Amino acid sequence: MRKKIVAGNWKMNKTLDEAVALVSEVVNMIKDEVTGEVDVVLCPPALYLTTLKPYLEGQTRVALGAQNCHEKASGAYTGEISAPMLKSIGVRYVILGHSERRQYFGETNAQLAEKVNSALANGLTPIFCCGESLEQRQTEVHLDFVRAQLTESLFHLSPEQFANLVIAYEPIWAIGTGLTATSDQAQEMHAMLRQHIASQYGQEVADDTSILYGGSANEKNAAELFAQPDVDGGLIGGASLKSREFTLVVKGVKN
Ligand code: PEP
Repeated sequence: MRKKIVAGNWKMNKTLDEAVALVSEVVNMIKDEVTGEVDVVLCPPALYLTTLKPYLEGQTRVALGAQNCHEKASGAYTGEISAPMLKSIGVRYVILGHSERRQYFGETNAQLAEKVNSALANGLTPIFCCGESLEQRQTEVHLDFVRAQLTESLFHLSPEQFANLVIAYEPIWAIGTGLTATSDQAQEMHAMLRQHIASQYGQEVADDTSILYGGSANEKNAAELFAQPDVDGGLIGGASLKSREFTLVVKGVKN
């Protein structure tokens, strides 16, 4: 059966001291308060990953993730970080294709296909982000647009490779705006994504794929979103920057 996952995307936030404090608080709160089956992934700025790793020692439910990686393994790519580097410091997950990376850094579906290949080849679990703009939703091309994002970046993978992926549906109009998708809108898209995966890889692979929702999810709306049959947890931005809020979001997952 697919896993329930809640991942926190800290983006470009927190100084080192603040990051250490946040990770310690989250690890303790999850240990003391969360009883359900849910995997928690913390994605701090890459600079802090090595320092934060020891704070997760002995934690079976909390893992580290990066926010991005380069598609090449090594080379003259100043400022970049590769999948083998992340693997070498014990990182398990990597967010790929976040809409901010697509928008501000020009990442394309074809480039993301290469990043996914590199992550998988190095034993990382990609959290592959997809999602439409407000205009695409208003003109009712959102389902086709998101379907194409999956097809173009992921459908070259074998079923065995695809089984190591997590998908995050993040409508761009909901990210950081306070405008959350309704639970019906999220469920409609997630069900479509699962059906699209089934059409390529079969129902068993589709049923085993965790599909997370992201976009202004918080402690107030998480439980309703996560209760939808095809919503398997969340990718959380703003609400992952405060330990209490994030823990309450994690507690929104019911088994
Ligand atoms: C995100 O950036 O992945 C995200 C979902 O952000 P927020 O929760 O702040 O909308």
